[in-house]
Amino acid sequence: MGKPTGFLEFQRQSEGYEPVEQRLKNYQEFVARLTDDKAKVQGARCMDCGIPFCNNGCPVNNNIPDFNDAVYKGNWREAIEILHSTNNFPEMTGRICPAPCEAACTLGINAEPVGIKSLEHAIIDKAGENGWVVPQPAEQKTGKTVAVVGSGPAGLACAQQLARVGHDVTVYEKNEDIGGLLRFGIPDFKLDKRLIDWRAAQMAAEGVKFVTKTMVGKDMPNGVANDAVKVVAASKLMKDFDAVVLAGGSETPRDLPIPGRELAGVHYALEFLIPQNKQNGGGRKNPINAAGKHVVVIGGGDTGSDCVGTSNRHGAASVTQFELLPKPPEAENKPLVWPYWPTKLRTSSSHNEGCVRDWSIATKEFVGENGKLKALKCVRLDWKDGKPVEIPGSEFTVPCDLAFLAMGFTNPVASMLDAFGVAKDTRGNAAATTDGDGCYATSVGKVFAAGDVRRGQSLVVWAIREGRQCARAVDEFLMGSSLLPR
Ligand SMILES: Cc1cc2nc3c(=O)[nH]c(=O)nc-3n(C[C@H](O)[C@H](O)[C@H](O)COP(=O)(O)OP(=O)(O)OC[C@H]3O[C@@H](n4cnc5c(N)ncnc54)[C@H](O)[C@@H]3O)c2cc1C
Ligand code: SF4
Repeated sequence: MGKPTGFLEFQRQSEGYEPVEQRLKNYQEFVARLTDDKAKVQGARCMDCGIPFCNNGCPVNNNIPDFNDAVYKGNWREAIEILHSTNNFPEMTGRICPAPCEAACTLGINAEPVGIKSLEHAIIDKAGENGWVVPQPAEQKTGKTVAVVGSGPAGLACAQQLARVGHDVTVYEKNEDIGGLLRFGIPDFKLDKRLIDWRAAQMAAEGVKFVTKTMVGKDMPNGVANDAVKVVAASKLMKDFDAVVLAGGSETPRDLPIPGRELAGVHYALEFLIPQNKQNGGGRKNPINAAGKHVVVIGGGDTGSDCVGTSNRHGAASVTQFELLPKPPEAENKPLVWPYWPTKLRTSSSHNEGCVRDWSIATKEFVGENGKLKALKCVRLDWKDGKPVEIPGSEFTVPCDLAFLAMGFTNPVASMLDAFGVAKDTRGNAAATTDGDGCYATSVGKVFAAGDVRRGQSLVVWAIREGRQCARAVDEFLMGSSLLPR
């Protein structure tokens, strides 16, 4: 372990943030990783507490006490090896993971938890700068071929694992560049897209082929991003490859079919965020401009928060975020919930940049003038026995020129699953289990599923976990056994 008395001596170290007025002027990342000295102090606070609950709280089961110790001792190279042994993309999770590991940290029961995510961030960035992250091509090729449909974190993690044990992997992506929601959903100010290019270069050197602007299966519904100029039939993949992994995410956005939905100014969140990411990457200007507008974001999660941050960078006149559910408590009841992920009020860096937040609100109507959105009619809710009841007389109207629907995603695009004839679960996800024989296998022979397409809308770290575990299942299917981690 790090320093036996470290947790008694040292306070949690925080990463540096650029001031709000500065960071709102651009779309660049604004969180500065810990200095080496601060990282050492952070690592020293780990108690190596016997049963590392953090390791279980982390979906990829990072060996957290081990890399904490390595950082404390200044063994950065060892730290990145420990981190990479469980996580293909710590440069992503070190920036955008909500860090359920920290909710499970034993020190967090009665003090501030170890800043695990900040150590992950520091380790991978230092490793990148020092050239310690190099391609790991397989020593021997197996002659087996695998198609991965979708290049989000699940597809990429799966592809990297499979390539490293010698399979020929081709990743198909319908959008113009790889990365899934990492590339086109999550804004640059949270995740610099050059990190995806950097990882992709490593993967290409390991033998992974990327085929972009190519859709597998049939049509995409409205509201789902699609830059494809080519279509590949599911039957062709089934003929050409020894195994197929579906990692297409959960892309169907939840709609709000109330009066006025057709008005100009009402958009799904990704209709705003995707063009912004493309513009920042050198593409054409975002056709939705929030400058000087009254923006209301409907939905209180990550996607909504990203719309808040992007609207503020545009220079919106006002930014408001409404949530249907009641306001969660400011702090959790630790003894009741530890080591699990607690329900509590979460305030993102985007919220801190300026935003009015309100809870228990239902939007009843989009009000327009000459076809353009001008206001929202809303009502306050009283939640009784888990059910919302409208409060009589609580109706109100707010000015609104742009409304972003950020209420989550209901299910994967059905036509992709149907093209392969894959059975769905009750929520419309690809049906496949995650343990036991046949895990990650769908109802169709040699077709596997991982990430949001299987588990529904989730987190990057869960997608990486599923991609890794699915790779093992595919390797076992192809070779009879596998040395990839479970
Ligand atoms: C705006 C936003 C912000 C988020 N912020 C965070 C965050 O801060 N932290 C966090 O942990 N999680 C966040 N999430 C959730 C996270 O991004 C997802 O859970 C994760 O990306 C899922 O990974 P995936 O690989 O399963 O799918 P995706 O990332 O959705 O990737 C699927 C890919 O498959 C492609 N595809 C689909 N169908 C086809 C087809 N038929 N042919 C070819 N290609 C196809 C898609 O174009 C897409 O590129 C956010 C989500 C959104 C929408
Ligand atoms: S991936 Fe997420 S949960 Fe796991 S150690 Fe990193 S920040 Fe914590």
